[in-house]
This record gives sequence, C-alpha cells and structure tokens, in this order.
Amino acid sequence: MKNIINILPENVANQIAAGEVVQRPASVLKELLENSIDAGSTEIHIEIKNAGKTSILVFDDGIGMTKEDAEICFNRHATSKISSAIDLFNIKSKGFRGEALASIAAIAHVQLISKQRNDQLGTQIDINGSQLVANKSVVAEDGTKILVKNLFFNIPARRKFLKSNNVENKHLMNEFFRVSLSHPEVNFIFLNEGKEIYNLKTSTFKKRIIELFGNKTNEKLVPINEETEILRLNGFIFKPEFSKKTRGQQYFFVNNRFIKSPYLNHAVKVAFEGLIDTNYNPSYFLNLHVDPKTIDINIHPTKTEIKFEDEHSIYAILRSSIKHSLGQYNISPILDFERDKNLDIPYYFDKKSSDGSMSIEVNSNYNPFKKNKTISLGNANHNFEKDVHTLQFASDSEDFTQLDFNDINSSANTNQIIQFNKKYIINKTKSSLVVINQERAHQRILYEKFLKLISSNKKNAQKLLYPSELEYNSQDIRILKSNYDQLKIFGIEFNFNENSIIISSLPSFLNEKDLKLHIDNLLYNLQNETPINNFSESDLFSKILSKSMSIKNGKILDTKELEYIINSLFACKEASRCPFNKKTFIKINANDIENMFK
Ligand code: ADP
Ligand code: MG
Repeated sequence: MKNIINILPENVANQIAAGEVVQRPASVLKELLENSIDAGSTEIHIEIKNAGKTSILVFDDGIGMTKEDAEICFNRHATSKISSAIDLFNIKSKGFRGEALASIAAIAHVQLISKQRNDQLGTQIDINGSQLVANKSVVAEDGTKILVKNLFFNIPARRKFLKSNNVENKHLMNEFFRVSLSHPEVNFIFLNEGKEIYNLKTSTFKKRIIELFGNKTNEKLVPINEETEILRLNGFIFKPEFSKKTRGQQYFFVNNRFIKSPYLNHAVKVAFEGLIDTNYNPSYFLNLHVDPKTIDINIHPTKTEIKFEDEHSIYAILRSSIKHSLGQYNISPILDFERDKNLDIPYYFDKKSSDGSMSIEVNSNYNPFKKNKTISLGNANHNFEKDVHTLQFASDSEDFTQLDFNDINSSANTNQIIQFNKKYIINKTKSSLVVINQERAHQRILYEKFLKLISSNKKNAQKLLYPSELEYNSQDIRILKSNYDQLKIFGIEFNFNENSIIISSLPSFLNEKDLKLHIDNLLYNLQNETPINNFSESDLFSKILSKSMSIKNGKILDTKELEYIINSLFACKEASRCPFNKKTFIKINANDIENMFK
C-alpha cells in the first residue's frame, strides 16, 4: 500500500491555526495589544480603519525586537515567553503559545517595524500570507509597530463572513476595554478612521472604569475587597439599581487577564439574589489575583477561559464578599448617607471551610425586598421586622389609615411608648400594638411638611446674618445653577463663584451647620439616575430632603421625640407609607398574638 500521510506545509498549518486564534479583526487587536503589554510598553497607540477589515495598526514604546527576533517572530511556536513545559505552570505574561503572529501573518498583509532602545536602526519585515516580502534595516522609533492589512485576503469565505462595521467595531471596542481595564497603568490612544476616540492616561482601576464608561459611573460603584490565602480580590460592582436586562458590564480579570467564566458569573448573580429581578444582570469589574501555579490558562487558544485549581472556593469567596459589600453599603433605592449601624455585621469568613458548600451568613436586614421564611429563636439580635413579615400579622390589604389619631392619642401616655432595637417605636392602642419604623415615619412627616411649605407659597427663606460659603467643583455648580429656581422655592438662595456657592438665605427648617450635608445629598441624588417616581421637581426635592434630614434608624430617641413622631405621623395625609412607598408602621392585634401561640 502507498503511504498517504503528509506533513502539512508550514503556511497551511498556520492558516489552520489562524482559524482558532483569529476569528475577526478584534482577535488581531487583542493579540497585538497583549504583545505590546508583554513588551513592557507604557504607551500604546491604536489606529483602526474600516472596522479593522482594511487595517489595524498598533504602535508601542516597549522593549522592541532585535533584527534576529524580528525575523523569527512570525514563525510558529516562536515565543520569548516560555522555554520549557515547566514554565506553563507559572505564566506571568499574556502570550506564551507563540502562534499569534504566525497566524496573523498567514491570513493578512503584515508589516512589522521594531527597534530596541540601544540599536541605531530598526528592522522592517513585510509578510503576506506567510510569504516574506521584505526584510530590511530602517530608521525607526524605539518600540514596535505592527500594521495588519486586508485580513482574510486569501480566505474569501472567512472575509465574507465578517459582520457589518457596526458589529465588528463593537467587538474591537470590547477587546480594547478588556485590555485597557486590566492595565490602567498604561496610556492608550485609540483612533478610529483617523479620529481620536480615546486618550487614556495612566490611571487607577477606578478612574479607568469611569473614563471608559462615563462620569456617572462613579456614583454607581461599590468597592469589593477581600484577601484570603488562595485569592486576592478587588474591584467594583454596580449598585443593584443599575443592573440591566442586557448583560451590562461584566469583567473578570485573573492576574490582569480578562477571562470569561459562566461559573463565577453565577457566583456574582447569587450574591445579588433578592436585590435584582432574576432577568436582570449585575455589572461588575473584578480583579482576581491568584498564584499562577493554581491556574491553567492553556485550555483555550484565545486564552479567555482558564481553569482554577480550587474553583469552588473562589466561587464561595466571590459570592460572600459581594454579599458583604452589598450589605455594608445598604443599597436602597435612594442612597443612605449615614450608614445604619445595624448593618455593621461582623464579617466572618472561614478559609478552612471554603469548599463551595459553605454558606456565609449575611444579615438579610439590608435587603428590603426579601421576606424571610423562618424565624430564628433565641437570637439576641432578634429581627423584629423579619418576624412580622414572616408571620404576616399585618396583611397588605389592611387599610392602615383606619388607625385613627384619637385611638393613638388616647393612649399616648409616655410609659406606653417604647423604642425597640433603636429603630422601632412600639405603642399600645386600645385594640392593638403599633410598631413604627422611626426613620420612615420621620421621612413621611418631613415630606408632607415640605410639600405644604412649597404649595403655601409662603416665603420660606430666612436671611443669614453672615453668608455661608461652600466649595463645589464646576460640575456640581452647574447642577446647582440649573436648579436655582427650585432651590429658591425651598428658601435656599445663593450666588456662585467658579468653585463655590455663597448662601445668603435658608429655609427655617434647615440648620446652617447641616447645610453642606443636605446640599451634598441633593447633588448626589440629582446626578444619579436614582429611580424614584416623582410627580414634579418639588416632589423630587421634597423626597430627597426628607430622606436626607430624617432621624435615622439606630438613633436613640427620648420620650419627647417618640411622642413627636407618633403624633406627627398620624397627623399626616398618608401615614402608612414613607415617601418611597414603604410601610411606616404595622399593627399587631390580639388575634395575631393568639395565632402565634397555636
Ligand atoms: P507569544 O505572545 O505567545 O509569545 P506571538 O506570536 O504573539 O507569541 O509573538 C511572538 C514573539 O514576538 C513574542 O514572544 C515576543 O518575543 C515578540 N513580540 C511580539 N510582539 C512584540 C512587541 N510588540 N514588542 C516586542 N516583542 C514582541
Ligand atoms: Mg502574543
């Protein structure tokens, strides 16, 4: 029989390899950027034409290549990053497979110009579909410049399958975001069709995120930090209210390499459970640092999937740290500025039991949407609200406004009012116990007071003896200016300079010493896409200020204050709900208690 096995020529092998490494222009950009990063560049310049179909240029100021290295870098398995199999288990560079340049050169027109700092001249190599066209010494800048033109020129079927420029551009941007986020210390300049669209200066991770995703992003971020023996985790998640139905921004970086991991994504989703709708997706930017020996990057040609030695523990750590941060930051529809002391739960993570089956107990108190199904008995920090919700003493259909003022007043004798857990005011009436949430109740009281003040058209302003100057940045001042009329209705009058506002009058209900805090809160909420339903600007301002100025949960109240809350709340038009539509109080009657003993 005749032998039928051939060894494929190098250029054919390269074309086949290219099928795995290079799917589209964005794959080329990714490989070139990673090479520039590996070369220790501090500035990387990118130019894209026709969504990368016509050309992709990457120019860096990294170490460059010698003449000999420039000549062999297009060979398959040509890499400076590893030299033996052992090195595969300690990878610190982005590349190591030595096939990117060989693959790209097999399916495009490539020009490389590279020079090392100490060399007089650089080297230029032109290579078309694996065929060397030119190899010469040239005058060049330090670093490496690679131009990739006419991608898939020799594989018409692949070229035809490239998507529209919009789609290919989106892929290019995705790759650019991934690399520039994982290396905020590097400057990136990005030109599309000759127009500069990004000029990113050396920065921090947080600032880089904001630069890429817009100024408003700052307010959406909650920091994540965790350090254990097997994993160092840091980064940010978006507050739950900024979750999207679409996938949103989801970034995992492992040792500064972007990776895809449905498994770890699940861990994040679980941490958000109860805070976002199941069909919404959290956004996150998370850096995971692990010992390179504990991961295998080698399992996918584009190196976006990796294998962790201890995947289950990483899952558990991720989930618990995010849960913890969400709890700490007390994410609620309108943001708290004073942290509720009840939320400072001692955080506990047992490294030894990190086997995936562990469950981290996080105080579910932070979660306004979730109803617990069990009561924990014998717990010193017994959560009253939780029990009440669980047992449904107060049915949702009950008309709370039925509880009349007289009923309360008739028994408002001081020794029958108690404050419980620094949060609830409990009062006995003729037929029931009334449990009031002090913060929500006070919000309702203030909210109605503010609305009344505005509609009465009374002049609320009181002139200050000495005008008060508060410093703000230009963006804040712009916002305050554009709300000038509204603020005036509230009685806040001011002039402004470039970097400060000078307040000349205040409403009677606002204390001058707290002014800065309340204006900060106002600015914060106005700049946020805070999802509160408002009827009008006055309504919005009343809501924000009532939230900002209310007595907080966690504050010990004296008898006078307790009485004030009870009496003022039940004098409100809509005593049963706070301005953010949550219950201000619940009622427990004898029957409910009866049932509890069954
Ligand atoms: P890998 O990155 O896996 O080593 P590549 O095919 O991407 O393989 O690159 C081959 C080699 O060419 C690299 O190992 C590196 O030595 C050199 N090289 C590629 N790009 C650059 C660059 N921008 N600056 C300096 N050297 C580079
Ligand atoms: Mg490479």
